[in-house]
Amino acid sequence: MVDPSEQVVLADPAVIAGLDYWRELPIKQQPSWPDAAAVAAASKQIASFPPLVFAGEVDDLREKLGRAASGNAFLLQGGDCAETFAGATAEQIKNRVKTILQMAVVLTYGASMPIVKMGRMAGQFAKPRSTDTETRGDVTLPAYRGDIVNGYDFTAEARTPDPSRLVQGYHTAVSTLNLVRAFTQGGFADLRQVHSWNKGFAANPANKRYEILARDIDRAIKFMEAAGADFDELRRVDFYASHEGLLMDYERPMTRIDSRTGTPYNTSAHFLWVGERTRDLDGAHIDYFSRVRNPIGVKLGPTTSPDDMLRLIDKLDPDREPGRLTFITRMGAGKVRDALPPLLEAIKGHEATPLWVSDPMHGNGLTTSTGYKTRRFDDVVDEVKGFFEAHRAVGTHPGGIHIELTGDDVTECLGGSEHIDEATLATKYESLCDPRLNHKQSLELAFLVAEELAAV
Ligand code: PEP
Ligand code: MN
Repeated sequence: MVDPSEQVVLADPAVIAGLDYWRELPIKQQPSWPDAAAVAAASKQIASFPPLVFAGEVDDLREKLGRAASGNAFLLQGGDCAETFAGATAEQIKNRVKTILQMAVVLTYGASMPIVKMGRMAGQFAKPRSTDTETRGDVTLPAYRGDIVNGYDFTAEARTPDPSRLVQGYHTAVSTLNLVRAFTQGGFADLRQVHSWNKGFAANPANKRYEILARDIDRAIKFMEAAGADFDELRRVDFYASHEGLLMDYERPMTRIDSRTGTPYNTSAHFLWVGERTRDLDGAHIDYFSRVRNPIGVKLGPTTSPDDMLRLIDKLDPDREPGRLTFITRMGAGKVRDALPPLLEAIKGHEATPLWVSDPMHGNGLTTSTGYKTRRFDDVVDEVKGFFEAHRAVGTHPGGIHIELTGDDVTECLGGSEHIDEATLATKYESLCDPRLNHKQSLELAFLVAEELAAV
């Protein structure tokens, strides 16, 4: 007898053909690979590898994001601007997961809501760039586009896009996600342990401001323990993988047909977002992502018109499905209070319920006189505050934050309770791309956002 659960539903041939329609459309931010045959061979190889995620997990995430969109959960998405192959070590992966878990505990308490935990991890290897080339002195070379495309060293050899990196990107994503799954399912994420790490943070005199909230969380956990809460359940957390869906020679071969439903999923991550530079309505990226079932994010900068936003909704979420579409707004601290409310207002009357998430990083970049790309911690906090204010004023739900962070002790963003200043930036600046909040700055942000959430 055929087990109905094992019945394979085949995809409509038109659906499969549609997955390549993007090839006919204008496309931005792709590398100029020197050898097209080698790219085709690498893509073919990737298409034969197992998926990183299962369609059922992707569906679960979509549902959870739907809850966040209606104000009953909150998304915490964080990780490197650009993951590197060399940075995919056990130590660094552990520190990043640990930081996100620590932030999530604080936010859970502040929001009194489930926090959906998501890493910019296990595939965040491709970067959009403002120029195709970089010039140093009288030498001009292709810009660094992320480890999945080329190397960072400023030599012609390193900077030439190398298709074997596509395959290495896949394998690095696999080993990263494997360790993330082990950590988050195998006991490392135990609520009591995560809380004990946070106690260390709150005990530091520099963080005195957070003492009361930390003490309240401590009491809540003791109460749960005394009341016999099932800590076995609290030893595991669902942790989702996400990255910018940018490099089509990786994303297309990772697209598979779900045998349960006959519909396409991008199996390189649970969640993918389209960046500010590639979200053209009639461009390749929006077309491709409109055809896969994953929850999709779109970055919205300060110049986004309400009309463009509404057209993105019609294209990516024609069925108005909860959790399908997330708008990640990155306006800048100085602009968010003016630029966000008109978008939130425009949505009314369209039956759309996108999840609204604040990326307080990408609108707040600056370069120091000494040449460091950095951000001020205070601007990051101010943009998050402006995001909450805008939602409060319009009556929509502030549904999450999207942060560039690392679990390591780097000095890339200015300020925070350690008062990192311009001179200090040089001491441990490691990012190859945008500056990240370090471990302590990330936790501090979580405490500040928790205060905002408690006030919603
Ligand atoms: C990013 O998230 O690293 C990024 C490039 O963002 P944006 O598309 O918003 O500029
Ligand atoms: Mn970035």
